[in-house]
Amino acid sequence: MTTIGFIGLGNMGAGMAANLVKAGHDVLAFDLSAVALDKARASGCRAAASAEEATAGADVVITMLPAGAHVRQVWTNAVIPHAKPGTLLIDCSTIDVDSARAVSTAAVGAGLKAADAPVSGGIMAAEAGTLAFMVGCDDDQFAAVESILTPMARAVIHAGAAGSGQAAKICNNMLLGISMLGTCEAFALAEKLGLDPLRFFDIASKSSGQCWSLTSYSPWPGPVPSAPSNRGYEGGFLTSLMSKDLKLAQEAAAKAGAATPMGAQAQALYALFEGQGYGQKDFSAVLQLMRGRLAEL
Ligand code: NAD
Repeated sequence: MTTIGFIGLGNMGAGMAANLVKAGHDVLAFDLSAVALDKARASGCRAAASAEEATAGADVVITMLPAGAHVRQVWTNAVIPHAKPGTLLIDCSTIDVDSARAVSTAAVGAGLKAADAPVSGGIMAAEAGTLAFMVGCDDDQFAAVESILTPMARAVIHAGAAGSGQAAKICNNMLLGISMLGTCEAFALAEKLGLDPLRFFDIASKSSGQCWSLTSYSPWPGPVPSAPSNRGYEGGFLTSLMSKDLKLAQEAAAKAGAATPMGAQAQALYALFEGQGYGQKDFSAVLQLMRGRLAEL
């Protein structure tokens, strides 16, 4: 049993902390929201009064916060100054690569161990313990990080040194955003050309257009029963989160001098869709923008 400080018990963190409790760990949880903290208590966590308290009593600290600014603030002001020497700090939030590297450097400089470990998979995967973690840390620390993350995971993959987990996450999600837009565009064109969209699905899913966005997450309702398109595009992976990840990818590309024209287009389209009030719909709902059927959402 390890005492794990868990800071950030929102949509994702709540399920993750509960799975650590189920695995037999002692979880000392903190969130600014009293409602989130009550929920964590109900799932077997001990509630801490502050991020400092959640850190000081822990052997491992995990953060699951909205964005880079939150992680910088919590690690700099609460976690790094209050962690016991040698404590392993793991940030599972999706944040910019620069913030991930900055907090890791500060932690290591203070005699702590650090990893960035963003996740693929949404709220249901967080609750089921089937997230995929992409880990950035030193080689000799990966085994310890993996053993902590395993109760929350279907896969824990070492991406490379500090910041590499975030780099892998934004590259993967940029690819996902582009492939979903391509899939939606193809469905919209098929419809305009008089093709039965379901017949098009059958053909493309067995042809070179096959991709995860089509065959595992079809934006057209019907062929993939588990896809959010069958439930009014509710749940799933929110457009606002896809928009956030595409923005992170573009910022990283600009800093690295990488040309990502398709990623830029994807970011613009998802920003447009979010700006029209569809941020809380699943990202595959962008199909209805392509079809000119936003009123049906
Ligand atoms: P959320 O907004 O539901 O939860 C964040 C929690 O952090 C909130 O409960 C908030 O009160 C808390 N918080 C904020 N500042 C804090 C502070 N200073 N101290 C303590 N608690 C603080 O967000 P989420 O959906 O759980 O996402 C968390 C991270 O995971 C984000 O970076 C997101 O991009 C990423 N992510 C989310 C999903 C998803 O489907 N929701 C999927 C993959 C990755």
